[in-house]
Amino acid sequence: MEFMWNECKNYFNDGVIPGSAPFRSNVHICDLTPPPTNNHNHNHDYGIEISQQLMPLFSTLGGISPPPCTCHDITAIRQHIDNYIHTAPSTHPNDYTIFTEKNDTSIDIICLYTLRDVLQWWTFWAGSLNSTQDRWKLLYIAFGTIADDVMIPPIDVLNGTFRFLGHTLADVLAGLQSEHVNPHDLKFLEMCLWRQYIVQYLEKCDPSLRTMLLGKTTLMTQFRIATANAAGTAVAVLAAMGTQSRGVLDAVVEMMGTGCCLSMDMAKEALGVLNGEGTETVAGERERLKRELRWVYVRCIERLNGVACAPVAKRYATSGLVYVFLMERYRERVSGVRVPISGALRAVLDGLVGG
Ligand SMILES: [Zn+2]
Repeated sequence: MEFMWNECKNYFNDGVIPGSAPFRSNVHICDLTPPPTNNHNHNHDYGIEISQQLMPLFSTLGGISPPPCTCHDITAIRQHIDNYIHTAPSTHPNDYTIFTEKNDTSIDIICLYTLRDVLQWWTFWAGSLNSTQDRWKLLYIAFGTIADDVMIPPIDVLNGTFRFLGHTLADVLAGLQSEHVNPHDLKFLEMCLWRQYIVQYLEKCDPSLRTMLLGKTTLMTQFRIATANAAGTAVAVLAAMGTQSRGVLDAVVEMMGTGCCLSMDMAKEALGVLNGEGTETVAGERERLKRELRWVYVRCIERLNGVACAPVAKRYATSGLVYVFLMERYRERVSGVRVPISGALRAVLDGLVGG
């Protein structure tokens, strides 16, 4: 795992926060400012724009306030992870433990449900499904998402011990190549997935990591983008739209990822998912943290107005406001029980998984 972690650090580098690699940021969140009011290039046609003026009109949302800067604390997180990884045992008693809290008993079934979730997310992000052209992009996102649901040792992904419904990471990367994903994007996708697996794994076997993030909005945001692989997923969506990213230098991808995670957090709060649990983003001083989270969200969304890929980028960055209410993944989280997979859905999933 140490080898993978060092590769990630070398690949992502520091960005604007010294010592932050691999949690690179190209934009310092706290420096984001609202656009001038006479700016007419707003692209309000794309995604769901809920501006800071309109948020207080919703009882599920409210006002915003700038968070104190905790961005530089990411170096302490990075150091904590360095120390842990340096002495980590090669296996952990909780390896392959299930974290879904939905009464699941088999990892393969969870993989299938994860692929369902990705199909549904994709519907919001891409607006259509071309399972021939984008099959491996969907499998890539699902391959990452399973790390949230099951504690999978990162090394097992690297050496092919872990297979997602029969497919190794190498199969997925070769598949992406066959879909003509640009080689630079492909490398970015691979490194984002390594980083995601490492932080997801550590978050599960080292609870003190979570404690270090609590109550710190901008720090939590930096960390979550990595655990959710929101940037890698954004690049997969852009690739499906024929847009090549700028990889680790891409501030638009960064804003897309932040918007996607935080719009999801806002909707989860409204739905009551995770409410009161230790793993929710705003655990602790909820009202203050929610105001800060909304501040980060509106600044990121404003930033996407006027970029060349705004139709895709804003749609992606605001999608959480809709998908949380419509997707089984979140509704199951409230009920604690799976929704059975229908015959029609099963046929599409089987087609994606292949023989
Ligand atoms: Zn800051």
